[in-house]
Amino acid sequence: MVRPPIRPEQTAPPAPSRLIVVSNREPYEHRWVEEQLVCQRTDGGLTSALDPVLCRLGGTWVAWGSGDGDREAVNPGDVTHVPPDAPAYRLRRVWLSRDEVKGGYLGYANQVLWPLCHTTLDRVMYSKSSWEGYVAMNRRFAEALLDELHDRPGLVWVHDFHLALVPGLIKAVRPTTTVAVFWHIPWPGPDVFRILPERREILEGLLAADSLVFQTAGSADLFIDCARQFLQAESEITGKAVDYKGHRTWIAAHAISVDYQTFAEQAGTVSVEQAIRQARERLGVAPGTRLGIGVDRLDYTKGLLKRFWALDAFFARHPHYRGSFTFVQIAVPTRSEVETYRRYREVIRQTVSVINDRYGQADWRPIVYLEGRIRFETLVAYYRMADLALVSSVNDGMNLVAKEYVASQVDERGVLLVSQMAGAAEELTEALIINPYDAEGTADAVAQALEMPPDERQRRMRTMRTYLQTHDIHAWVANCLREVGLLLPTRHEVETG
Ligand code: UDP
Repeated sequence: MVRPPIRPEQTAPPAPSRLIVVSNREPYEHRWVEEQLVCQRTDGGLTSALDPVLCRLGGTWVAWGSGDGDREAVNPGDVTHVPPDAPAYRLRRVWLSRDEVKGGYLGYANQVLWPLCHTTLDRVMYSKSSWEGYVAMNRRFAEALLDELHDRPGLVWVHDFHLALVPGLIKAVRPTTTVAVFWHIPWPGPDVFRILPERREILEGLLAADSLVFQTAGSADLFIDCARQFLQAESEITGKAVDYKGHRTWIAAHAISVDYQTFAEQAGTVSVEQAIRQARERLGVAPGTRLGIGVDRLDYTKGLLKRFWALDAFFARHPHYRGSFTFVQIAVPTRSEVETYRRYREVIRQTVSVINDRYGQADWRPIVYLEGRIRFETLVAYYRMADLALVSSVNDGMNLVAKEYVASQVDERGVLLVSQMAGAAEELTEALIINPYDAEGTADAVAQALEMPPDERQRRMRTMRTYLQTHDIHAWVANCLREVGLLLPTRHEVETG
C-alpha cells in the first residue's frame, strides 16, 4: 500500500533518538521494477502502526532487508533513510542467509509460532531444522542491534513472534540496555503452548526483557499461566511481574491502534469523494447498491472462507438483497512462498466464483473480489463509502482494519461487524460482534446492519470514534514505553495541553 501523505511535523530530519525498533519485516522495501529502483511501503498492521510513530519520534528501525533492490539502496553501514520522500528515521537492514529465511522465517516463525499462537493447530509444520534456523535468525538480528547500540545506552523495542530470543541475546551482552517487547499476535494457553518443544527457550528469551506487552489482558494472563506452568520451579510471579533468574519483567496489555487523525482527515477530503465516485464506477456498482467491505491479507487466520460462507447464507436467507447489496473484498497476497497460503488463495478464489455463479445477475455481482495491494487514498475511499465492514478473523491479535474503518467513517453511517475472536472486539463494543463459526448468525448480523436505523448507526459509530480519538497509535506507543519508564506525551495530551 502506498504510504499516507506526510504530515508537516513529520518532515523534520531524523532526530538523534536512541530508540531502536526491531522487527523481522521492514517498513520500506526497495525493488527493481523495469530497471528502476522503487521504494515501497510494505503491507500489514506492523508497518501501518509503527511507521507514523517512527516518523514522529525519529530513531532507528532494524529489520530484514527482504527487497531485491535493498542492498543497492543502503550506505556502507547498511542504513537508508525513510520515508523516501521525507526522511524521518534510519532503517538499518539485516541480511539473512537462505537457510535463515527458509528455516527461521518461513519455517519456525510462519509455520510453527504463527499457527500455534493463533491456535490453528492443523497448520503447525514443525521440524528441528526450522528451530535451528530461528536461532540463527535471532542471532543475526541481535548482532545488528549490538552494532547499532555500540557501547551506549539505548532502548531496544522488539516486535513480534519472529524475534522471541532477541531480548535474551541482547541482555547477555549488554545487561544495562533497556529491552521492551510488544507481542502483536495472540498468546495461547498452556494446553496449546505445551506443543512447542522449545517452549522453555521461548519463555526464557522473552523473560530477559524489561517489559513484555500484549494486545489484550487475556493474552497477558495466558503468558503468565505459561510461565507459571513451564518455569514453575524458577519463576516467581507477583501480580503483573515475573521474576526469573534474578531479573524482573513487567507484563502488561496495551491494544495497538491506528493513526486516527490521518485516516479521519484523509476521509474528509474532497479528493476522497471523487475517489468514491470513481471506485463505484470501476467496480460496476449501480447507484443505490449498498456496499460491504473486507480488507485482509490472504491469511487463513482472517477467516475469509467463513466470511464467504456467511455471505452465501446471507443471500440465501435474505433474498431481497440480491441485486441491491455487494460485498467488496480486498485480498492482499502474503507469504506466497508457503504452500498453505497458495492453497488457501486458490480455495478463496474458487469459493468467490461459486457464490457469484450461484446468485449473480447480468448487471450485479454479490462479491467483487480484488486481489492485490491498494493505495492509501483508495483504501480510505472504500472505508468511507462502505455501509458495513466485516471482520471475521478466527483469531487475531487486534485487527487494525476494524479501527481504520471506524476512523474513516466521517459520515457516521456505517456499521462495523467484528469477530469475537479479534482483539478489536474488546474495545469496539458498539460494533456488531459476530462468531465467524456461525455462518447463519453472521448472515443475520449483516442484514441487521443493513436494516439498522440511521440514528442507531450514528450513535454506535460516534461512540467508537470518540474512543479511538484518544486511544490512537500515539497513545499506544506512550503507554508501551511508559512500561519501561520512558515518558512520552500522547498526541491527545500534547493537543489538550
Ligand atoms: N493494508 C496494507 N496494504 C493494502 C491494504 C491494507 O498494508 O493493500 C493494511 C491495512 O491498512 C492495515 C493492515 O494492512 O493497516 C492490516 O492490519 P491488520 O491488523 O488488520 O492485520 P495484519 O495484516 O497485521 O494481520
